[in-house]
Order: sequence, then C-alpha cells, then structure tokens
Amino acid sequence: MTTPPPICDYEGSDYQASFWDKGGRAYEDRTEAIALQRLLPRSGRLLLELGAGAGRNTPRYRGFDRIVLLDFSRTQLVQAQQRLGKADKYVYVAADVYRLPFVAGLFDAATMIRVLHHMADAPKALGQAKDVLGSNGVFILEYANKLNLKAILRYLLGRQTWSPFSLEPVEFVKLNFDFHPKAVRNWMENLGFRIEKTLTLSHFRLGILKRIVPTGLLVFLDSLFQWTGAWWQLSPSVFVKAVRRDGTPPPSYGQDASRILSYFRCPDCAHSPLIDQTDYLECSGCGKRWEVKDEIYDFREPMKKP
Ligand SMILES: [Zn+2]
Repeated sequence: MTTPPPICDYEGSDYQASFWDKGGRAYEDRTEAIALQRLLPRSGRLLLELGAGAGRNTPRYRGFDRIVLLDFSRTQLVQAQQRLGKADKYVYVAADVYRLPFVAGLFDAATMIRVLHHMADAPKALGQAKDVLGSNGVFILEYANKLNLKAILRYLLGRQTWSPFSLEPVEFVKLNFDFHPKAVRNWMENLGFRIEKTLTLSHFRLGILKRIVPTGLLVFLDSLFQWTGAWWQLSPSVFVKAVRRDGTPPPSYGQDASRILSYFRCPDCAHSPLIDQTDYLECSGCGKRWEVKDEIYDFREPMKKP
C-alpha cells in the first residue's frame, strides 16, 4: 500500500465563526451563492457535499431530495447539525475524501467547494468524486487559482519566487494549494468529465475595495465578471460545472430513510452492503466496524473491538 496523502483537519476549528461569520467574508459568500445558483441543477435526488464543513452552503442545495454532508472533521459536522437539524433530508458522514465510503455511481450531483485547496493529491480526490457519481452526474468544483492577477503582478515585479504560469500546484502555506486552470482541466478531462461551464469569482478580493465599496455593489460587479470565466481565468477563485460522461445511471432510491444503509460501502475493502448494528455498521468483508453516533456515520478509523 502507498502512503496516503496527508489530510488538512479542521477538527475543533472555529473556521465557521472566525473566517465566515466574523471575518468580513460577506462578499465571497454572496458571490459563491450566485455561482451555485448559476451552475447547480434546480432539483435532484441525492447530492453529496464534499468538505461540507459547518454547512454554510448546504441550504443552497435545498432543491435536492436529500443531501449527504461529508467532512473529515466531526466537530464541523456537529456544527452543521446545529445549523440544519437532524432532519431526514440530511445525512452526516465523517470520512476521508481519498477513501469515500459510498457505492459507485450513487449520486446525481456532488459539490466540492474550497476543499481542493487542501488536497495534496488533487487528481486522486477528483477521481473519488467521479467514482461516486452516476452517468451524467453533475460535479461542481471550486478551486483556488494560482494564475490570478495579483500573483502574476507579484511574480513579474520579482516579489514572488514561484511562477503562476507553470502547471504544477503551489503550496504557499502547508496543506494550502493553488492550482493552474489548465492543470485542473486536464485532470478532469482525463478522468472522463466534460466541462460545461466555468465561472471566475472574487475578482475584487482586495481589502481596500472591500472597505470602501459597498458589498452589494462589489457582489453585483463580480456577478457580471463571473461569465468571463468562459474565456479566461485570472481571478483567485474558479467554479467549474462538469458532467460525468461514462458510468451507469444512479440507482433510484426514494426518500425512505432505511435506504441510507444501501449508500455505504466499506472504505477499506469496498465491500457492500454493510450490516446495521445500531451503534455501528459492520463490514462482513473485512470485519471492521464503523461507528454511528449522534447521527454521524464515522468512516475515518474503524472502531476498536472490545
Ligand atoms: Zn471492509
């Protein structure tokens, strides 16, 4: 077995409060809402939110019958539960994006926003997303763009050593990566995705602008500029709508809660179905037990056997 890629863990983090709620990020949050509205199908059956965090974006997916929130951090999911409730509409899963615990072709849509940013092995994470999407499944991906105007200027002025023009990712802080748009496109196409739309976001992410220009005006201007993503991508954040070309159509599950069990497979040996033992799901393939506690399915580490 190869060494798994390192994971950026938000366990115990106050990311939602410090970054979003009090961090002056209203502009970024609202431009993301607009992009999602433009890219996401109005309705659907089952959506997977990869790196859901505290559920900031989840209400924007309400047109879907059911939403599976996945995050590596359990404490982020607890915050999401407090925000959204433990309704049947939401399924909370603690798991590693590199080892997804779902049967192949399950979802008809998936989103991954501000998550690739922390992926040391981006193609592997994107491949996992592809595997759990059904044929014609829609994938909405956001990534941080290394080829942004600020980085280009800094590089040309000699104030930054790394080149924004080269295809490899740049890790500017540990486990924080920016990507070249062409590299992301290549990965997606090699995996069998067809890119349908590209939007650029956060054109005006400058402290001085955010202080002196009303947020509503900046959001409006950004919403116009988003469409230029079809021709060039020079903003710090890029949204892509891709469709899985191959694969089998997703199975037709209803809203029956008992069916949730059939979503899962063992992340270690890929066996399915798992057996519901109330406090845990048991894998009859390898014998591992995956904890279910306070309505969070936990596939990060198997439970220790008594
Ligand atoms: Zn197993």
